[in-house]
Amino acid sequence: MNLLKKISILLAVCLLLTGCAAANPAPTAPSCADGHIDAGDDGFCDRCSQFLLVVVDFYTLNDIHGKLADADTHPGLDELSTYLENARKAEEHTIFLSTGDMWQGSSESNLTEGLIMTDWMNEMGFAAMAMGNHEYDWGESPIEENDKSAQFPFLAINIYDRKTDQQVSYCESSTVVDLGAIQIGIIGAIGDCYSSIAADKVEDVYFKTGTELTKLVKAESDKLRAGGADFIVYLLHDGLGSSKSSTTSVSDKQLASYYDTSLSGGYVDLVFEGHTHQKYILTDSYGVYHLQGGGDNEGISRVEVAINIANGSSKVQSAELVPTKSYTREEDHPIVEQLLDKYADQVSIGNEVLGNNAYNRNGRYMQQTVANLYYEAGMAIWGDRYDIALGGGFISVRDPGYLAAGEVTYKMLYSLFPFDNQLVLCSIKGRDLQSRFFETSNDRYFISYGTYGAELRNNIDPDGTYYVVVDSYSSIYGPNKLTEIDRYDADIFARDLLAQYARDGGFEQ
Ligand SMILES: [Zn+2]
Ligand SMILES: [Zn+2]
Repeated sequence: MNLLKKISILLAVCLLLTGCAAANPAPTAPSCADGHIDAGDDGFCDRCSQFLLVVVDFYTLNDIHGKLADADTHPGLDELSTYLENARKAEEHTIFLSTGDMWQGSSESNLTEGLIMTDWMNEMGFAAMAMGNHEYDWGESPIEENDKSAQFPFLAINIYDRKTDQQVSYCESSTVVDLGAIQIGIIGAIGDCYSSIAADKVEDVYFKTGTELTKLVKAESDKLRAGGADFIVYLLHDGLGSSKSSTTSVSDKQLASYYDTSLSGGYVDLVFEGHTHQKYILTDSYGVYHLQGGGDNEGISRVEVAINIANGSSKVQSAELVPTKSYTREEDHPIVEQLLDKYADQVSIGNEVLGNNAYNRNGRYMQQTVANLYYEAGMAIWGDRYDIALGGGFISVRDPGYLAAGEVTYKMLYSLFPFDNQLVLCSIKGRDLQSRFFETSNDRYFISYGTYGAELRNNIDPDGTYYVVVDSYSSIYGPNKLTEIDRYDADIFARDLLAQYARDGGFEQ
């Protein structure tokens, strides 16, 4: 039989068969208009064989603390912008998230009260941000301003207004990212970190924590699932107190100080954490992943999840902490340059050269210097009325935790002392002065005694009253047992005293 004949016969058979099929349609023909079925969970529809997995890549930042500019210890937002843009191009579904503490910690961000960071997140297309404690460092009105310009929601299911007993207006409980075939629900919460915020900045709000928070998150999850959410991400501004070098399984007990593992029993599918500035990838007793990528722009938590559109099952395909140190160094990035131009009037003061620093000064040195300056400033204004015993308080330094040799700019002092804590004159009972400030074991306090304080040190009358100058965070902090008497110039903070010190040549030797 020649080839032509063979083809003709085949064609005839085909016509015969199709004709037959049209006359008697198969009763079980593939039809998945009402949804696919994947009983074996192999990622393919049992009826039509369609591939059912949607792959989503989450990139979550935590505790960036306004680190817009490059520093010795971390790259700036130039590199981060490029990295995120490349991720967006390379993958089909990318979701950018943050677990909070985005604003406080650099001159660029502080001088714009976070607006430059919020704008950057808009430009990059962030889907949501959980509130961190440091978002409260300037009180509530800058949060409201940031909320007006943010094109993404601030999430905190548990921040309540004391007067109305309602959730604060600038936060949502959750948001949904609609990817077409699937929906991702995102719930956000602030951790139990109320006391780490200067009390006068949060007097109108309170945080629901512990079992109250668990209840809120479970109810929100039920609501999101009922609305069609296939996968639920929990953004929590709290975390484990230590880093882990490799993926670690943790017990419910290990998480108990900040996370109720019962949430992983069907309510949340993935947890991104923050606040403790640690690096880890954990899996809890339900196999739910928890990630945190360090702090001060050290890294991004990246998780790739495959979600089955037929049965809603999900699987973490990969989880990693991408260190920002590994990014390629960029000169400029148009988005960052554009933002620096937009806010040039506010941020230019950061570049002012104040003086020269003869050698690298470590964090301890800087804190001690601030303590001395607190004491001197207090003596200058109140010294003739009060025998001031001490200046200083809990003055922590940030990253990078030292003042580099060379030109000193306002920007450098801003990253070391970003807090708008005022200088406060307080009174204190002798026994409390002894236990809270003079105990040598308590090195969280950097103190300057002056001559009078040094004389007193070993000779304190426990019932006597003494006068100290501390920052407003320490003065309000209950356990310090301080009574406020007066405040120094409202707009003078630690970095301003240091700026004057630098101008006066204080760092030249
Ligand atoms: Zn932080
Ligand atoms: Zn925090």
